[in-house]
Amino acid sequence: MQCRPYGKTGWAVSLLGMGCMRLPRLDNGRVDRQKAYELIRYAADHGVNYFDTAFGYHGRTSEEVLGEALEGGRRERVIIATKQPFGEMKTQADIRRNLENTLKKLRTDYLDVYLIHGINGGIWADIKKREILKEYEKFRDEGLIRAIAFSYHGGYDAFEEILDAYDWDMCQVQHNFMDTNREVTVKGIELAGKKGCALVVMEPLRGGNLSKATESVGAIYDKASVKRSPVEWAFRYIANFPQVSTILSGMTTMEQLKENLEIFSREDVTSGKLRDEDLVMLAKVKAAYESAAATPCTGCEYCLPCPQNVSIPTVFDRYNTAKMFDALDPSRRTYMFLTRAGADASNCVECGACEAKCPQGIKIIEELKTAHELLNGWYEE
Ligand code: SF4
Ligand code: SF4
Repeated sequence: MQCRPYGKTGWAVSLLGMGCMRLPRLDNGRVDRQKAYELIRYAADHGVNYFDTAFGYHGRTSEEVLGEALEGGRRERVIIATKQPFGEMKTQADIRRNLENTLKKLRTDYLDVYLIHGINGGIWADIKKREILKEYEKFRDEGLIRAIAFSYHGGYDAFEEILDAYDWDMCQVQHNFMDTNREVTVKGIELAGKKGCALVVMEPLRGGNLSKATESVGAIYDKASVKRSPVEWAFRYIANFPQVSTILSGMTTMEQLKENLEIFSREDVTSGKLRDEDLVMLAKVKAAYESAAATPCTGCEYCLPCPQNVSIPTVFDRYNTAKMFDALDPSRRTYMFLTRAGADASNCVECGACEAKCPQGIKIIEELKTAHELLNGWYEE
């Protein structure tokens, strides 16, 4: 397992990191703790030293499961990164209370990395106004956390503003070969590198969708001069960036974990190893998936904020994912979380404030209705 520097911290972290938001589940939807312990311990004993979790994952139980799994000798050998959601910081006192609660759940006296979860252009102004990072700095001075970071979903412009506004130790962003011109884009990856900020990449397989090849995508992979699995191609694309410290994978089964460990044990799964012809081939794969997209949304967020809180780019992301990867049920399920947050397409009152701002000229109101018809209706506890 290759280890890479983690920004300015002086730490060396494993290129493969374990994301703890897709742990194995029982039929009732709760985490299968025995299987999760086995998975986490196997990873920690086979070269993975970076574990990412969050307050909200798995109905707020992921931190607890990770803490239990690492107890008894492994915790000291690994980096734990976890996240506090802005929505849970209603008062300044909440910020400390949440950290204390998290430390208890993780069975540890300190966190290596503490992130503000899911910053976007919409909440950044409030984070600054409430001086939340000052609270984080106090935690660092007290030895309760070692590094201050944020995770981000959104377009490049807001990302640049947030990255420039503070001396972050790390930023965690979505990237994969489908996101070269959406989310933070390749430019965002390069910017984080220039600033010396550690960069952790999530969704390298775009929610697992890049592990399956549709017929047209399979035909492109078949023509490649080197035969590799879709999963390996997707990981190699991210590993090729020298700016990336760790690639998070949300592994659910031992089979997936072992497959990933094998891929990351290959010496040439590292930066600068993809050839021009490989990059051309991945661009063709991207184009083949995109040819089935429902809208040309790039996730730039220029249409936000919506006065009714509709998360327009996220709705279109779920809509496109359903079409491009033939993944209707997973998209309907993730759409349900938007509905619970009051940010789904049904909240649109057709005010029209968004449409003129869309550089792609998307007929947002119309497309939101179609997306809602397709995605609405998934239910689970
Ligand atoms: S048209 Fe609908 S989605 Fe667009 S800003 Fe108005 S309420 Fe929001
Ligand atoms: S709908 Fe248009 S403005 Fe909104 S995120 Fe998508 S591309 Fe950007």
